[in-house]
Amino acid sequence: MARLRRPKAECRGSGVNDARRPYIKRRKAWDKAMKNLFTKLSEDGWIYVFFDGVFEGNGIYKLGKAKDFICRMQQWNHCCPNPDRIWLEAFWTPKAIRLESVLHIALEELCECRPRYVCKCGIIHVEKFGFRGAAPFSTYEERIRPVILAVIAWIWAQRL
Ligand SMILES: [Zn+2]
Repeated sequence: MARLRRPKAECRGSGVNDARRPYIKRRKAWDKAMKNLFTKLSEDGWIYVFFDGVFEGNGIYKLGKAKDFICRMQQWNHCCPNPDRIWLEAFWTPKAIRLESVLHIALEELCECRPRYVCKCGIIHVEKFGFRGAAPFSTYEERIRPVILAVIAWIWAQRL
């Protein structure tokens, strides 16, 4: 587990600012995130995922971490309201902050793009990932969730 796959073609064509890094940089970021996972202290916490609507034909997904998930959910809904948002899932995990970094790189590897745009709330949310198509549940179930589950199962196995 926890190996980076070979790259797909880089995705930089759409004119939208795409924060997806080239393979070599993702690879380096992955190695660093994995090292930090084992060497730096990190508390347990929630890893959560939501769908945040469609942007230029891609479903947008956010993966974040929180100590108090319900509080974070309310913060998002208050500070960045979006009627298209669908809260998908949350997992209690060891080393949540470090694991979030690992999962962000895994999603960056899997996604079609990381569009960087000014949200309706006025903020440029960087850690959002675009997946082709607008069917949030099937995209999540088929492409995103298996990777998240594999990484989370793996980190729990390290602890047991
Ligand atoms: Zn926003």
